[in-house]
Amino acid sequence: MPDDSSPARAKQGFYTRLSHAGRAGTHVHGFVNPPVHRGSTVLYPNMAERKAGGSHRLEQHLIYGVLGGPTHWPLEDVIAEIEGGTRCQIVSSGLSAVTTPLLAYLKAGEHCLMPDSVYGPARGFCDNFLTRMGIATTYYDPCIYAAGIEKLFRPNTTVLYTESPGSHTFEVQDIPALAAVARAKGAKVLMDNTWGIHFFQPFRHGVDVSIQALTKYVVGHSDVLLGSVTTNTQEDWDRVRTTTMQLGQYASPDDCWLALRGVRTMAVRLERQMQSGIEVAQWLATRPEVKQILHPALPGAPGHDIWKRDFTGACSLFGVVFHPHFSQDAVHAMAESLQLFGMGASWGGYESLALPTTGFVTRTAGSGDFGGQMLRLHIGLEDTADLCADLDQGLTVLRSFGG
Ligand SMILES: *Cc1c(COP(=O)(O)O)cnc(C)c1O
Repeated sequence: MPDDSSPARAKQGFYTRLSHAGRAGTHVHGFVNPPVHRGSTVLYPNMAERKAGGSHRLEQHLIYGVLGGPTHWPLEDVIAEIEGGTRCQIVSSGLSAVTTPLLAYLKAGEHCLMPDSVYGPARGFCDNFLTRMGIATTYYDPCIYAAGIEKLFRPNTTVLYTESPGSHTFEVQDIPALAAVARAKGAKVLMDNTWGIHFFQPFRHGVDVSIQALTKYVVGHSDVLLGSVTTNTQEDWDRVRTTTMQLGQYASPDDCWLALRGVRTMAVRLERQMQSGIEVAQWLATRPEVKQILHPALPGAPGHDIWKRDFTGACSLFGVVFHPHFSQDAVHAMAESLQLFGMGASWGGYESLALPTTGFVTRTAGSGDFGGQMLRLHIGLEDTADLCADLDQGLTVLRSFGG
């Protein structure tokens, strides 16, 4: 079996690579999966060997557990492979994967550009933590054109942050155009690529640092929180790695092991969930209660053209906007009436979720009026006929509120 550095690997298909990347080869006596390596202390027989680090990753001095170890490395290798980057850093949550590179690339007196559609806690981090550190943030319309973003750059802008599509409102950003402006201005492009996973290849589109909440489809079973920060140059890797270590960021090897287990089946889960998501979205699009479906893979939906140009697929998270005469109470009652859709945050597991989202959408750049109450759906692995039947009875509840 070739190990994950095999030159043959790059030519293989995505399904093959997901099955074989980061595998232990003969290192664990032929067992398919690596064991969980738990540890803080790492012992060496003498100081010379300790100084050498004893690791097969020479630049990672394996002298203490916080630096990561043999259970972190295979997961890091698989995620780097998925995103088409060279190195990946595992961190404790998706939110840590957002905050760690922001801290790596911003210092007091500098300025950061954030999409108005950004994941809520990322906005919270900028408005509170970064403000306190003397770092300013400007929120921009996620659908802004290159000429528009150029005007928002200041001499001290060092980070252009992107997230495409937005995880509540699904705006698809023109990443190559925005990244070209950032590059010309000497700023770094950070991207939250959790929705795109491997359907969007960040480094081919001008992104410098890619962020993933592995909590979602990689883990895939709604039982672990984990994040990743992936880079594609030595310089960016050094910057991210150093900051991660200075912050004491660490993820449990048990959680990494579960994520590694999850990722082996991610391609088939995603394929099924993409199809099911599109099917349910298309069914909802025919319903008279629905004003608009926010699913980039649906022809005619907002952002579809850019999605078609830049993405090779879609995950199963999308939004529904109801006609304005349906009240928030009606949408809440509908969500509460669903039997197969759980009502809760997060997504990417095997089970379906429905979350009324209107109240979660904070906007300051004037891009937030969708003209009706919103429901975010995550489609799991259930039969779509059952999911549509459940939504059908939910829509009956919605209509019973009048309007
Ligand atoms: C969930 C999510 C995160 C944060 O991940 P956690 O592991 O829950 O901290 C970051 N970005 C996006 C787009 C998300 O959906």
